[in-house]
Amino acid sequence: MTSVKYPKVVGYDLVQQIGGGGFSKVFRAVNIQEHRVAACKVIVLTPDTSEKDRKTIEKEMRIHAALKHINILEFKDAVVVELKHQQHFVPGFYMLLELAAGGDLFDKIAPDIGVGDEVAHYYFNQLLAGMDYIHKEGVCHRDLKPENLLLDVAGTLKISDFGLSSVFKLKETGRTRTLTERCGSLPYVAPELNSKRPYEAEPIDVWGVGVILYTLLAGNTPWDEPTQHSVEFTRYLSGEIFQEQPWNRFSDAALSLLQGLLTIDPHERFTLEDAFQHPWCVRPSQLAQQGSASLAQALTQSLRTTGDLDLASPNFNQRSESTDDEDEPMLSAAHNTQFTQTLMLFSQTQSGTRYTPHLTRFYASLPPDQLMPLVQSGLSSLGVTCREAPPSSSALRLRIGGQDARKETFRGWVEVEPFEYHGSHGSFCVMQKDSGNPISWRQLWRALIQCSLVEPHVLRKRVQGKH
Ligand code: ATP
Ligand code: MG
Repeated sequence: MTSVKYPKVVGYDLVQQIGGGGFSKVFRAVNIQEHRVAACKVIVLTPDTSEKDRKTIEKEMRIHAALKHINILEFKDAVVVELKHQQHFVPGFYMLLELAAGGDLFDKIAPDIGVGDEVAHYYFNQLLAGMDYIHKEGVCHRDLKPENLLLDVAGTLKISDFGLSSVFKLKETGRTRTLTERCGSLPYVAPELNSKRPYEAEPIDVWGVGVILYTLLAGNTPWDEPTQHSVEFTRYLSGEIFQEQPWNRFSDAALSLLQGLLTIDPHERFTLEDAFQHPWCVRPSQLAQQGSASLAQALTQSLRTTGDLDLASPNFNQRSESTDDEDEPMLSAAHNTQFTQTLMLFSQTQSGTRYTPHLTRFYASLPPDQLMPLVQSGLSSLGVTCREAPPSSSALRLRIGGQDARKETFRGWVEVEPFEYHGSHGSFCVMQKDSGNPISWRQLWRALIQCSLVEPHVLRKRVQGKH
């Protein structure tokens, strides 16, 4: 008897899980015949899926499919497998999306450091362009947060996840309506959502855009929630926070833009048009003139400074120049560009070079069966819930989850596989996030590498004077 499996989705096979959220799993998908790659977001259908749930998913697909813009993740196609076919395939909604081969934008940003003004300016303008288009189409996103901002193979920003979006304006007549549902995660929601009154759509996203700009510049979100329960938010309201790090290191122009976007009263808040015309935005971009390798260099500057990138790619002497993908040699070109190479999204494994869109990885001098118990104890001591998962081919696996400092839930996997170097038996360890904030995920990766059990075995780049 064959086991139930994922169907081919308009010619694409689902090959590797690369993410997942509250309700979904996201796979890298390949079309062998046409030499193309894509992503496939699967929302599983069960006998408990209500008619209301279906309507919500259908709404996400309808809205997303209608949006076409360079800064919006492209929706290619969709297939539904109904419950009656469950003997053959996993029932669910299958959305075929453009693959964001550059991974999460915020996976490249060092916690509490952020990116410099130039990179923030470059990506913020792309975010504004995408959001302006969405609003002009009459749609409000309502779930702007770091994990929903992805990068394509050339480093272009792609806004994704229209699961909470809503139509607030009829394009034909221009008539708008207020919205009522309370949604979004607390660190990103606008303060007017604390009351039960209906709210205007556009200012909600403007607030979200402001939180993203802060997160780019600071390397962390500004507060747990926009209420008096948050110390930081209270200090923001009183103005005390502007004397403190990181607020006091922002340029005057960046600070005035942030304050405009993060204005409490939605009627007083900047509009996207105000943001476009703000002096911080209108100045020409230095980065836009340069190639994608310079962009990748600038984006990961904070990870280079902290040494995070040396840990992710220690450059062993036998590093091969080829980037053949062990699974699908002829397909690697589709996600192998100067941008993804400079970002080091390919890692060296026992059997060759492999596409690893997560930079939260490291190499260790112990074989997997000795390293894994240390990783597990290390993570448990950091308050993370760990569960052993069945090994996949040569890798030992752990399912992990917990809550970050901002009380946002995260989930993911730790995979440890053998790695031979200089004739010794070591391991290659990848922390792959399913859901949650990419910056907190990186903080967890760092904490694991620095914990006393794991730290002595971590392999570092052999450069004099460095770590
Ligand atoms: P949540 O409700 O937690 O926000 P979700 O279930 O709505 O999530 P998405 O946000 O669409 O799912 O996707 C979850 C994660 O999967 C993303 O944060 C991202 O890391 C990854 N992902 C999603 N779409 C793609 C894509 N097209 N290419 C590459 N990675 C993707
Ligand atoms: Mg999401």
